[in-house]
Amino acid sequence: MLEQGEFADYTESFPTPRVTQDALPYWGAVKEGRLLFQRCPACRGAIFPPRSICPMCEAGATPAWEESKGAGSIYSYSVVHRPPSAVWRARSPYTIGLVRLDEDWFLFTEIEGKPEDMAVDKRVQVAFPEREVPLPVFRLVSGDAAR
Ligand SMILES: [Zn+2]
Repeated sequence: MLEQGEFADYTESFPTPRVTQDALPYWGAVKEGRLLFQRCPACRGAIFPPRSICPMCEAGATPAWEESKGAGSIYSYSVVHRPPSAVWRARSPYTIGLVRLDEDWFLFTEIEGKPEDMAVDKRVQVAFPEREVPLPVFRLVSGDAAR
């Protein structure tokens, strides 16, 4: 399983995340199918990726963990037709992009769905598909128009 400081392997298997000390609770929750982010107790700003000190204010406060509802919208995206390795080639074309969560933080992620259905501002919901490496992905919310 993932250990702190491990680096991604981009060859013939799914890449594994590099797990930092600050992000250990995040990855532990991902294994349980939950999505966490942090919030500063002083300025109330949402923080991601995980930090030990709020990067947005001068308070020097230790961010607190919160569970995300996993709902958001597509902020930007790109459909990949020429993947970097064999394991991704089998999945292409696929979509990666920035999702803006409703709690006002961003996650760079895979967005599942037909490439032709992707559009900025479309609503998405987090999912934790069965894979060799546990990762949150997002899926288009069916029947939902861009807001
Ligand atoms: Zn703050």
